Amino acid sequence: MGLWAAVHAERRGMKTLLADAGRLGGGASGGLLGALMPHMPDRWSEKKQFQFDALVSLEAEIAAIEAATGLSAGYRRSGRLIPLPKPHLRKIALGHSADAESHWRAGERRFHWHVLDGLPGEGWVDPAAGESGFVHDTLAARVAPRALTAALAAFLREARHVRVLEQAEVTGIDPLRGTASLAGEAVAFGRCVLAAGHRSFPLLEELTPGLQKPLGQAVKGQAALLAADIDPGLPTIFRDGLYVVAHEGGHVAVGSTSENSFADPFSTDEQLDALIEAAREMVPALRGAPVVERWAGLRPKAIDRDPMVGAHPQNRNLIALTGGFKVSFGLAHRLAEAAICIASDANAEFLLPESFAISNHIAVSSR
Ligand SMILES: Cc1cc2nc3c(=O)[nH]c(=O)nc-3n(C[C@H](O)[C@H](O)[C@H](O)COP(=O)(O)OP(=O)(O)OC[C@H]3O[C@@H](n4cnc5c(N)ncnc54)[C@H](O)[C@@H]3O)c2cc1C
Repeated sequence: MGLWAAVHAERRGMKTLLADAGRLGGGASGGLLGALMPHMPDRWSEKKQFQFDALVSLEAEIAAIEAATGLSAGYRRSGRLIPLPKPHLRKIALGHSADAESHWRAGERRFHWHVLDGLPGEGWVDPAAGESGFVHDTLAARVAPRALTAALAAFLREARHVRVLEQAEVTGIDPLRGTASLAGEAVAFGRCVLAAGHRSFPLLEELTPGLQKPLGQAVKGQAALLAADIDPGLPTIFRDGLYVVAHEGGHVAVGSTSENSFADPFSTDEQLDALIEAAREMVPALRGAPVVERWAGLRPKAIDRDPMVGAHPQNRNLIALTGGFKVSFGLAHRLAEAAICIASDANAEFLLPESFAISNHIAVSSR
């Protein structure tokens, strides 16, 4: 989120210091999966429209970063397959298909929620996984998280208005004085955009009187990368929280666990083994595929589950940009643009859903 914010600041010519406690892209965004999954097309809402617009616009945003840096972000709109193991799920999927025809439209572009009897290609999902057929969604995409963060970081290292500081932890923010404590020194700011992932929550809590509950929490996730000789254009498979994502270069990512309590944030264990087993069960090509990496990270989940964006109600020069939880990659460029518009007193060309406002999350935490 912070990298996209710095990109938007650069484009607007805003003098910016990008400080990261570690290295750029070394947080939850430095993972393996990168699934860009649309919400269900039924019960349409401003939140779903926002995500749809973000997923459609991301393609051009990434192309611009790739053109500027010459680096690939591993993006592809390869779609998604959802097995339908029971007849009633097929009925529901047919309803969603009609919903997608009405809502998944962007100018001339149309995206679909096809309900298939058989599979679009051979040798990817085991046909037995979908006794009642498969959904093929043509809006879903994927990006390689580390390739994207590396491209954004490369863009920022060449930026004219952004200075990058790594291994520089912000230990406190004083919005009244307009200073942040950075490596033992007070650094002055006009506006501060706080995009520290799950670590944004305690920093914001210190500045927010009257809270009854934390503003958010860290939710651990584990994922794995397998090496397999597969077509990188194959659609992502999604079933009951299990993702199988085909990437470029003979890699397939498998994830993710969702853990509210954990002893070690960055260890992997038998919960990941179970996911890999389930993936191999459903995808024959993964049965003999070696695991090349196991990885864990902490997602930022805001108290009201939605992203948390906007000027802090009591400290308007502090702008929150966090809470992307499980869908950050599809939204980050838009949420960051909104945060930078707020920071520069400019109007964005789009509206943020009200539930994303930090004031909404503070109200929920204060009850
Ligand atoms: C296993 C797993 C799978 C996932 N799969 C997907 C997926 O398929 N699709 C998707 O969209 N999302 C997915 N997510 C979620 C996504 O990765 C996160 O929501 C997203 O990366 C959060 O981005 P962020 O910029 O808010 O936080 P981060 O990427 O964690 O970045 C925060 C940055 O702030 C820095 N920082 C922290 N504290 C300070 C401080 N005090 N001072 C200075 N810097 C600080 C950190 O060093 C870090 O670089 C997954 C997450 C996990 C764990």
